[in-house]
Amino acid sequence: MQPAFELFVCGMCQFIVQPFPLECPGCNSLYCENCVKMQRNWSCLKQVCRSRQPPTKMHRSVQEVLELLNFNCPGCNERKRYVAFFEHVAACEQIQ
Ligand SMILES: [Zn+2]
Ligand SMILES: [Zn+2]
Ligand SMILES: [Zn+2]
Repeated sequence: MQPAFELFVCGMCQFIVQPFPLECPGCNSLYCENCVKMQRNWSCLKQVCRSRQPPTKMHRSVQEVLELLNFNCPGCNERKRYVAFFEHVAACEQIQ
């Protein structure tokens, strides 16, 4: 995996943050929108942070970096850009 991959892993589901990623205002950790919504009383999962402020929309420049990254499909290892990656993973025959 490329180093940048680690930066875009959701603090909750440990998968690449899905559209639309949210950013904790306390520690800048990223979370999927759906992961945040699943928590009734939000508090950041990072031990050092624990912010109760709900994560906000990711900075536009970070979003742009994310959209330019290539990710390898965990099933067939095909490399895809961010948006295409999620479309592919949903349809990939190697992933059940
Ligand atoms: Zn998540
Ligand atoms: Zn945090
Ligand atoms: Zn695949």
